[in-house]
Amino acid sequence: MGWEVFPLAIRRILNGSHAILRSHARPVRKINDVIISLLDDMAETMYENNGVGLAAPQIGIAKRLIVVDPGEKRLIKLINPRLLEWEGEAVDVEGCLSIPGIYGEVPRATRVLVEALDPSGKELRLEAEGFLARILQHEIDHLDGILFLDRAIRLVDPEEKGKEGS
Ligand code: ZN
Repeated sequence: MGWEVFPLAIRRILNGSHAILRSHARPVRKINDVIISLLDDMAETMYENNGVGLAAPQIGIAKRLIVVDPGEKRLIKLINPRLLEWEGEAVDVEGCLSIPGIYGEVPRATRVLVEALDPSGKELRLEAEGFLARILQHEIDHLDGILFLDRAIRLVDPEEKGKEGS
């Protein structure tokens, strides 16, 4: 079956005021074709919108799925991601595809260890620093109904911003 049943699709990104972006997403219990296809659509939607990350609730699906790509087409698809460890703190500018045109300075851990399943169902641990660590924290926040504005310590003029949305 595969792609004939689930063609790649760009999904609509919900605005930050949507209730699903404020709810706790449910863990994925079974990785099936629907989940695999959803992850593909999320990646497609992220690239289409020049984002560096996307969480399933942003396209209206309350499941614990994220995709991230810090650049250079290094696409990472994570199922049920969980922060195991975090350390350090740095403040940098963030945006969000669900909150277009608004940017803010957000403190985040500089290094994280994330546990998740990959699309084949294999358990993995991902150690990340800097920008990738920041994106992972931003996307995992989405799964718990947290938006970057909740953590922002200062809003930034769009002219000043340098980062893509996620
Ligand atoms: Zn976001």
